[in-house]
Amino acid sequence: MSKKYTLRMSADNYRDLIDHLFPGDGDEHGAVILASIVERGTEVQLLGKELHLAIDGVDYLPGTRGYRRLCANFIREKIVRARDQRLVYLAIHNHAGDDSVAFSSTDMASHERGYQALLDVARGMPVGALVLSRGAIAGDIWLPSQERATLCSTVIVGATRRVLFDRPPRSIEHDDTRYHRQSLMFGSVGQKRLSGATVGIIGLGGAGAQLAGFLGRVGVGNFVLADNERVEITNLPRIDATGLDACSWLVGPERPQWLIALGQRMARRKIDVARRTIRRANPKANVTTIFDDFSSDSVARQFLDCDYLFLAADTMRARLVFNAVVHQYLIPGVQVGAKVVTNRSTGAILDIFSVVRPVTPDTGCLWCNGLINPSKLQDECLSPKQRREQAYVDDVSVAAPSVNTLNATATAHAANDFLFHFLGLHQNDATQDYLRFRPGFRSVIFEEPRRDPACPECGERADSRRACGDLVELPVIYLNK
Ligand SMILES: [Zn+2]
Ligand SMILES: [Zn+2]
Repeated sequence: MSKKYTLRMSADNYRDLIDHLFPGDGDEHGAVILASIVERGTEVQLLGKELHLAIDGVDYLPGTRGYRRLCANFIREKIVRARDQRLVYLAIHNHAGDDSVAFSSTDMASHERGYQALLDVARGMPVGALVLSRGAIAGDIWLPSQERATLCSTVIVGATRRVLFDRPPRSIEHDDTRYHRQSLMFGSVGQKRLSGATVGIIGLGGAGAQLAGFLGRVGVGNFVLADNERVEITNLPRIDATGLDACSWLVGPERPQWLIALGQRMARRKIDVARRTIRRANPKANVTTIFDDFSSDSVARQFLDCDYLFLAADTMRARLVFNAVVHQYLIPGVQVGAKVVTNRSTGAILDIFSVVRPVTPDTGCLWCNGLINPSKLQDECLSPKQRREQAYVDDVSVAAPSVNTLNATATAHAANDFLFHFLGLHQNDATQDYLRFRPGFRSVIFEEPRRDPACPECGERADSRRACGDLVELPVIYLNK
């Protein structure tokens, strides 16, 4: 079975490329993208890692056979770099036109003449070409096995998700009458697109459970859920579960310890409660449940096919891995949370807020914004025994205040962010700021995310994690037991 090739690139790279190819002179221009490669089953994803714009008259010259060509030195430098960094070399030029584009016979003839030699230099890495019009991308990829593949689609990941093809795809409409009222807003094509979407929800506590409900009801078709806890009686005010799910008849305070322990072991898993919520809303939904901590390599890897990630677990370890997945695999996401900050000795409430933080490959990362705290990260890795020995004060097992409505402020905004991102409903000037809601003041604070160009996670430097795909490991932390 032949493999399906897709390209994924960040919105800022795509914007730079389009500005370079279409400066308004109606002429042809060139560039090279070096992409990492992620293979899973029959899907092969190319992740645009480095964009090299060819300077007209220096790197991009009049051609002898075609109209223009990349100069030999430019090609050599990039193909050698591709070989050394294990990246796929993709030569780029543009054609006039809008929503469809194709290589000319001259283009194809030049691939036939030159690409075998490029494959020889690339030593085991595919090479290829892309041709862009203003709203379409076509690709011709040459594989070391001597086979050739065409690019199926290109996903541009930014505040809004765009999917580009070589020509407008045949649109399939949704015919499920239950979504009629939504289709009036999304269009029936948009509704159909949602049924093909895959979302990942990390943490199925109060916030994650609400997200599962919202997204199940709007008709998202595919879910990946990870959480390693079972329902407790104190969760019931915030999730769609009953006393039966929590085995409340076994775990009451009057019960002997052994019975409580049995009840805790028999209680329903939070992922199964969330799956039930989703299936009630949309019986056709595919739900993958993982009863484990997200921040282990084998669990995080099960989220790599997602179109969007929701981080609703508030550990530094989960933030660390979520942040890495967003930038390493160019999968956008959002972190949600609600917090009641109290004075630990007096119990007095100091602040109450909910946050929604979109994290996309082109807007900086949780490290750039000081949202991953290394000392807390270290503390989370202590065993319970080590924690007792250090008289650990900020113990995550200490119950913190938590209220359903505070979660709802964050989760409803996050679910909207996904919908507007995925269906292209955001206005061009929509803010990508983090939002902080402070119900005590009835105020919203907009926090512009910082982006450090030198950041080793999301920055532009050659050794950053950005778009590395499978070339580097995820930063998973192994816990002391
Ligand atoms: Zn051409
Ligand atoms: Zn960063």
